[in-house]
Amino acid sequence: MAERFWAKVDKRGPDECWLWTGAAGAKGLGSFRREDRTQTTPRRVAYQLVVGEIPEGHIVIATCGLGNCVNPNHLAAIAPGGEVSRDIEPDLVDIFERAARRFYAGHAGEEP
Ligand SMILES: [Zn+2]
Repeated sequence: MAERFWAKVDKRGPDECWLWTGAAGAKGLGSFRREDRTQTTPRRVAYQLVVGEIPEGHIVIATCGLGNCVNPNHLAAIAPGGEVSRDIEPDLVDIFERAARRFYAGHAGEEP
């Protein structure tokens, strides 16, 4: 699955946005079909492939603000309460949590 996934990503430098070039999906977040044929968003797949499992109930956001960015360095899993669950550099926590608040303000209920 990983090979099929990354073939549809415009991979760039570690700090740049890596844009999903596959199916656009709803809301511009992209769409990817898992092996079990369920649909998910590319950033959730990128997070699972590179960072690890997404804790139950968490959403994955792109902190750069681009809905179809899948650079793992730009992704964070956010708990329903808004806390960042991933170990990140302390000076990034604010950025991630602000992104989470924006996310919940604009897209409540999005994406399992
Ligand atoms: Zn990005």
